[in-house]
Amino acid sequence: MEALPTQLWIGGHDRSASGGASFDVFDPATGKAFIRVADATSVDALAALDAAAEIQPRWASTPARVRAEILRTAFELVVERTEDLALLMSLEMGKPLAEARGEVAYGAEFLRWFSEEAVRIQGRYTPAPSGNGRILVTRQAVGPVLAITPWNFPLAMGTRKIGPALAAGCTVIVKPARETPLTMMVLGRLFAEAGLPAGVLSVLPSSRAADISGPLMSDTRLRKITFTGSTAVGKRLIEQSAEHVLASSMELGGNAPLLVFADADLDQAVDGAMSAKMRNGGEACTAANRILVANSVREEFTEKLVARMAALQVGPGYLDGSELGPLVNAAQMTTVAELVDDALAAGAVARTGGTPIQGDGYFFAPTVLDGVPRDARILREEIFGPVATIVGFDAEDEAIAMSNDTPYGLAAYVFTENLDRALRVTEALEAGLVGVNRGVVSDAAAPFGGWKESGTGSEGGTEGIHEYLVTKYVALR
Ligand code: NAD
Repeated sequence: MEALPTQLWIGGHDRSASGGASFDVFDPATGKAFIRVADATSVDALAALDAAAEIQPRWASTPARVRAEILRTAFELVVERTEDLALLMSLEMGKPLAEARGEVAYGAEFLRWFSEEAVRIQGRYTPAPSGNGRILVTRQAVGPVLAITPWNFPLAMGTRKIGPALAAGCTVIVKPARETPLTMMVLGRLFAEAGLPAGVLSVLPSSRAADISGPLMSDTRLRKITFTGSTAVGKRLIEQSAEHVLASSMELGGNAPLLVFADADLDQAVDGAMSAKMRNGGEACTAANRILVANSVREEFTEKLVARMAALQVGPGYLDGSELGPLVNAAQMTTVAELVDDALAAGAVARTGGTPIQGDGYFFAPTVLDGVPRDARILREEIFGPVATIVGFDAEDEAIAMSNDTPYGLAAYVFTENLDRALRVTEALEAGLVGVNRGVVSDAAAPFGGWKESGTGSEGGTEGIHEYLVTKYVALR
């Protein structure tokens, strides 16, 4: 692996933090720090905005084809560095290498996809129905963007914002998660290699997120905030965005139901449940938080799922063979353990696992809880860990009502071999993403976004670039 960056990336240069502070980045497999990085302050945030605001008009008027070619080159550079980036993500976040490689491919795809979308920003020209004049509609870059990203997908949650923003002609300041700043720090420099002009993209690792977002959001030169993270922080940012009516896109928390009907192919359903539950060790906004299974097949499904979960090889993500890495930090470990303990106390049964694994790092045993009472906390809060909760149901209506009984509305999964049922249930589910007979739905070419308290706006697809464009209507005689 090449030497890792440790400094802020502002205006196309490495910079130490004003005041010179730095913070540790930890390996969750050992709980030990492995590097220190510069800790950006509000002064640094405003320096990044100075750089972004200065180059914004030039970047917006750079030919779309040129913006597209830079994104395409960045895509190729990311793919070329797959092994380095995968190892880095595994080190700072804990995911197994095979999954980290998958994230590099997925994350890079947003750069390729939006390099293709950059040249298709369209408007229209129509006669006014009255016959009095013509209607001209164009779309322009919204302006400098602040992107705040979470730790669970250190690369993809960044490229999903940077790709469309740059394609649209926006400048971007990224504030990566405190736990996983390095992947974005590497990406910032890689974009410079791809030919991105200095100042268009800045990356500000910081241990004090609000010290970065607060001053930037109060500055009228910033025109957009795009956030991926918890619903609690998203709500706070929506409140703050009211001050200057800042445009915002929010990708927030989830509480995905996974429905297994009696007419499902049970092996396919178990495969799907493993992916939907265990992708990223359960630390995903799309993770199946509640597995609802028809009572007539519940025991058979549970036995198969328990066998698969119990067979998972747990270990540091960067060691060959590890299928489940550690949780990201001690706080996450405490949350998962508390939710499991609460469910067990309320009458759930641990069919496998149920406890943290003693020793270094933040490992939690792959767990299946059966017979979880419907009012248990674990069914209402995001688990964000390797814990599958199983709840039985008898009727389709009952399963739909349970699925929608949550303030969240991000992902849902349905397993059935009956087409009519699949269509009926997917229409009834209050969720922005629904997988039918599959446990992974994310695709750079499809719109990803939540309903209800899971967020606003879409990332990816043809929709994604519109989050970074504003519409202008020109009335012509
Ligand atoms: P988090 O909300 O704690 O942090 C997300 C980001 O916000 C981090 O960069 C953090 O430093 C920053 N932040 C924290 N407090 C802030 C504040 N007061 N002001 C400004 N920024 C602040 O979330 P997390 O623990 O990093 O990530 C897990 C959450 O993200 C889960 O709820 C998960 O569902 C959600 N998530 C959603 C999606 C999606 O697309 N909907 C994708 C991935 C993760």
